[in-house]
Amino acid sequence: TPPTGSPPPVLLKVHNLKLRVGEPEELLAARVAERLGLPPHDLGRLRILRKSLDARHHDDLKYLYTTEVELPAIGANSPLLERLTRRPGVEPHRAERFQWPDPTDHRGRAPLARRPVIVGAGPAGLTAAYFLARDGFRPLVLERGKPVKERVADVRRFDSGGDHDEESNYLFGEGGAGTFSDGKLTCRNTGPDTQRVLELLVECHAKPSIVYEQRPHLGSNRLPLVVRTLRKLVETLGGDVQFGCRVEDIELADGRIRALATSAGRIETDLVILAIGHSARDTYAMLYDRGVPMEFKPFQFGVRIEQPQNQINRARYGVEHHDHLTAADYALRAKGARDLFTFCMCAGGYVMPSVSEAGHFCTNGMSESDHDSPYANSGLVITIEASDLAWAERYGAGFQPHADGRVHPLAGVEFQRVAERLAYQLGRGSYRAPIQTAHDFLAGRVRPAAAAPPASSYPRGVFNASLADFLPPSVLEALQHGLPIMDRHLRGWFLPDATLVGPEARGSSPVRIPRDDDLRESPTIAGLYPCGEGAGYAGGIVSAAVDGLRTARAIVARYQSAFIT
Ligand code: FAD
Repeated sequence: TPPTGSPPPVLLKVHNLKLRVGEPEELLAARVAERLGLPPHDLGRLRILRKSLDARHHDDLKYLYTTEVELPAIGANSPLLERLTRRPGVEPHRAERFQWPDPTDHRGRAPLARRPVIVGAGPAGLTAAYFLARDGFRPLVLERGKPVKERVADVRRFDSGGDHDEESNYLFGEGGAGTFSDGKLTCRNTGPDTQRVLELLVECHAKPSIVYEQRPHLGSNRLPLVVRTLRKLVETLGGDVQFGCRVEDIELADGRIRALATSAGRIETDLVILAIGHSARDTYAMLYDRGVPMEFKPFQFGVRIEQPQNQINRARYGVEHHDHLTAADYALRAKGARDLFTFCMCAGGYVMPSVSEAGHFCTNGMSESDHDSPYANSGLVITIEASDLAWAERYGAGFQPHADGRVHPLAGVEFQRVAERLAYQLGRGSYRAPIQTAHDFLAGRVRPAAAAPPASSYPRGVFNASLADFLPPSVLEALQHGLPIMDRHLRGWFLPDATLVGPEARGSSPVRIPRDDDLRESPTIAGLYPCGEGAGYAGGIVSAAVDGLRTARAIVARYQSAFIT
């Protein structure tokens, strides 16, 4: 820290620094000094801003770095500084600062007499709770599922053939869907809010490198500790988290939130952050019945593809195993009448049952921090638009257009349900996964039910099926067109032993709950703050957490907590 009163040190951003895979990061300082033409001892603090793998040439695998470097001995007006910034890949850098309202400045802020309530302890809800608790708002988080330790046991029991628990599963419980996610922390948005969320995760025992890696990953085995630590932090700061507490109704008076009816009793409040995720279909239905404004939102939907991991390593690194690199990933898109794209790729991972509703079957993927399974898997999806919804009507989904002619707000939920129900019924209620090899699918072949199904990492077992028995034509056509294209993109290693399971129905939220852009409050229900993935404003762990942070910031800017008893 510079002495008080002295000007901040000059900062430069240095791009495109290269280290061969296997070279130690300690060499970075020398590379920066070399680029700047300065002796290494002239450099101050060096911080990695970005690290990415360049695997375009298999005989020259390297990491590319962007760094921030302090130059303590150089003044802001020095001619040397101007010369330095003319060097290739060097530019002046001013770190964007994280903005937060001053909690001691109460001017223009309304008093808030009762504790804000947050529904859902996923990334959005827990992050909102942390930032509210930090400023003295004493939030109360209501979570229908169990604390993470008990939840892990329930999920393991289900994986090994046990009954499905509707309140404690891969989607519901402490940490929300994020807990058993793959823990990829990539997020399209960068900037100080995203950085602040990543730093919060590091405070909660995530590895420090997540703040600069291009594709940061924690792994499903690391997430429970991070999630539990964040919850404990909320509690230490004056918040409370009540588990096994399902919100079943909202009470409104004069267009305002007044109370919540929950499975554990009635709770009075004037402010509710709704961070329910996109799988609480009963809660969506309740909100719709109560007149909360909602809209249909296009969403991602398709199958999950799985391949031997060593084939993906061959495609990306040129070898089946690399001593210095973890399992390789991919991100592919095949353009066509309907674009097909990979989504939530899990290198060295497992296919798992992303089931929250009994009688419905759905897949997703996860991996542990070491990426040590012999399989690679990925969602393979298209974006479902309103024009695709008619398919589900054939199976009894009733989409009455909304009174004003709009698509019914819950039509996407019903569409997901139809595919999930068909897959469940094909598996005769066993939660086994319907499977077809990519080659059989492309050739229109279906293996006999009695034949041994192809191998899969899916834990509850698989059975031979035809994808056409539970997927709409729009997805089948996109797969027919896009799979061979993706295979070419991956040098012929995408399809040789690939299998397809599904449906992958919960890629993103099929619903949006509108809110004011700045206030983040529902336009018609005062005190209701739709937030996170379930409200249609996020699509992943970090974006959901950033949405929670921003919602908390809007509330802190508007209210003062001093009146909360
Ligand atoms: P959620 O995490 O869904 O949390 C919502 C919470 O609200 C749940 O705990 C639920 O129990 C609770 N709730 C719902 N209704 C009620 C109610 N009525 N009363 C009380 N509580 C209620 N994203 C990534 O960025 N990277 C990944 O690698 C990744 N992998 C994934 C793998 C899997 C298997 C899954 C399922 C998802 C994955 N995702 C991943 C997506 C990510 O988990 C979600 O985008 C994120 O968790 C959304 O956060 P959220 O807080 O908005 O909602």
